[in-house]
Order: sequence, then structure tokens, then C-alpha cells
Amino acid sequence: MSDIRNVIIVGSGPAGYTAAVYTARANLKPLVIEGAESGGALMTTTEVENFPGFEKGIMGPELMDQMRAQAERFGAEYITDDAVSVELAGDVKRVTVGDTTYEAHAVILATGSAWRHLNVPGEDELLGHGVSSCATCDGFFFRDQDIVVVGGGDTAMEEANFLTKFGRTVTIIHRRDEFRASKIMAERALANPKISVEWNTVVDSIQGTDGKVSSVTLRDANTGETREKAATGVFIAIGHDPRSDLFTGQVDVDDEGYVKVAAPGTATNIPGVFAAGDLVDHTYRQAITAAGTGCAAALDAERYVAAIE
Ligand code: FAD
Repeated sequence: MSDIRNVIIVGSGPAGYTAAVYTARANLKPLVIEGAESGGALMTTTEVENFPGFEKGIMGPELMDQMRAQAERFGAEYITDDAVSVELAGDVKRVTVGDTTYEAHAVILATGSAWRHLNVPGEDELLGHGVSSCATCDGFFFRDQDIVVVGGGDTAMEEANFLTKFGRTVTIIHRRDEFRASKIMAERALANPKISVEWNTVVDSIQGTDGKVSSVTLRDANTGETREKAATGVFIAIGHDPRSDLFTGQVDVDDEGYVKVAAPGTATNIPGVFAAGDLVDHTYRQAITAAGTGCAAALDAERYVAAIE
């Protein structure tokens, strides 16, 4: 029997697990290289209220456990470790984990993206308890509260504007004296009466009371003076880094490192290599959109494998 598998999926967030469900149900017996930490970004959060099908919401880790078990039920196999190298050109693709190299006709890349951290005290401890990297995901939890948004690019402007639907006040904390955001986005934020800006200011630390964010310590970037500002929500919007290092030089990536696909499909520039989820997505970065493109990648891989049989 050949050891060449039909499909290997690299990554185990909503994109990877959804691709696993679909390819497993298509009888392709996918091998999922989950990463050393399985389950993806939602393992680091608490309540997920916007994934369809869960009227009362679901905890992020529980949602991911269910997706994993669902794919396993149909025959997906898992390796809970990082892929350390890939060879994607050629008819047979190779993915190496530790000392072992696995081969497949098709590979789905779904390693997601990492949000940039401030790396200040309190940030990690209070993640999911007032600290967030996603206004669309968490804005709803901050009704009538005082919110700060850290950043100065388009994403920060968009998040700040969006958060004014919920928050009592929204303060943008920006380390420079002008925004990097496009003019139109910056003007929209500055014209919003609920938004104020702390220019030339950085966040030094985030404090909590009873396990929830209660204030931030701000530092004037020019004078070094510090002061505390009361806030119960801290949205960090200083950018994302797609986890594409392993694939660059093989698949085409854009200027920011996102893997390029032939949208609306998931094909990369290499036949038999498909990509899905936040690894390809500048714009939406949601669990449901990652699951959606994971499904599309599975269907694309399934057709590819059928055509070479
Ligand atoms: P990810 O979920 O990031 O998964 C990527 C996977 O790739 C991980 O399992 C990782 O271990 C693996 N990986 C990385 N490198 C390797 C490697 N070398 N080898 C093998 N595997 C590797 N979205 C919502 O819709 N609703 C929410 O409420 C919500 N809340 C969020 C809260 C937080 C704190 C965060 C960070 C995000 C939240 N999001 C939410 C966004 C959502 O989690 C992402 O959009 C989604 O998880 C992206 O899915 P993905 O499968 O593309 O990537």
C-alpha cells in the first residue's frame, strides 16, 4: 500500500478542522498536523457568541474540541506538533514533523495569523477578561463601558468606530502625533463624538480588579510621565502577522505575508496546495469565515485528488 496520503492539513483552527471534517467525510482520511498547541486562536478566548448554531454561545475551547471530535469521528488523524518544514512543489508534497516526513497529493495550509501583542504586564493575564484583539468578536460585551483602543492604523480606526456602538467612551491610544491610517478612516474616527485620542501615548500596563480589566497605565512618549486611566475594555489593534514563514519561498505571499489564493477559490500558485482561514485573510478574521474557507479548501482539494486518480 502506498504511504502517500490524499491530503495533509497544516493547522487546527476553525479552518483546519473544518477542512478535516469535509475531507474526512469525503473519505480522504486526512492527516491533520495540528501544531504544538492544537485548536487555534479560539483556545485563548472565553465566550464565543457569534458562531452560528449556538444560541447561548459557546466557550472557545469547547467549540474547538467539538470540531476536532467531529472530524475524528469521520476518520481524520491528528499529530499534535508543529510542521517544521514543507516541500510543496511537485506531485507529491512533503510535510515534516520532528524526524518524520509525511507525503500527500494535496496540502491545505491553515496556520492562521497572530495578533501583535503590546507585551505589557497584564495583557496576557486579562486576555478574554477585558483585553481583546477583535472588536467584532467582543464589542458586544462592553455596553456602556469605557473602552480604549490601542493603535493608529486603519484597523484601529475601524475598531474604534465600531466600538462606539457599544461603549460609553472610546479612547484611541496612539504612540505618535498622527495616525498611520488612511485619511478617510482617520477623519471618520476623529469626527465621532464618542471618540477621543491620547496622542504620543503608550500603554505601560493593564490592571485588573477581581480578574477583569479596570484601568490602564499610560505613559507620555515625550515626557515619560505616567498616569492611570480607568477603562474596562482594552482593544489591541496594532496589526496581525500571518504565520506563513514556513511556506514563503514556495507559495506566493503578498507584501504583508498573507498567502495568495485565487479567490473565490483557495488554490495557491502551486497545484495541489490550497490555503484557508486567517492565513489568507486581511479583512474578516472570524471563526466562521475561517471555517468557510476551510470548507472551500477541502472541496478544492477533493476535486484535485479526484482528478489525478
Ligand atoms: P487559527 O485559529 O489561528 O489556527 C491556526 C492553527 O495553526 C493553530 O492551531 C496553530 O497551532 C497551527 N499552526 C501554526 N503554525 C503551525 C505549524 N508550523 N505546524 C502546524 N500547525 C501550525 N472569531 C469569531 O468569529 N468570534 C469570536 O468570538 C472570536 N474571538 C476571538 C478571541 C481571541 C482572543 C482571538 C485571538 C481571536 C478571536 N476570533 C474570534 C478570531 C478567530 O479566532 C480567528 O479568526 C480564527 O481562529 C482563525 O482561524 P484559522 O483556522 O485561520 O487560524
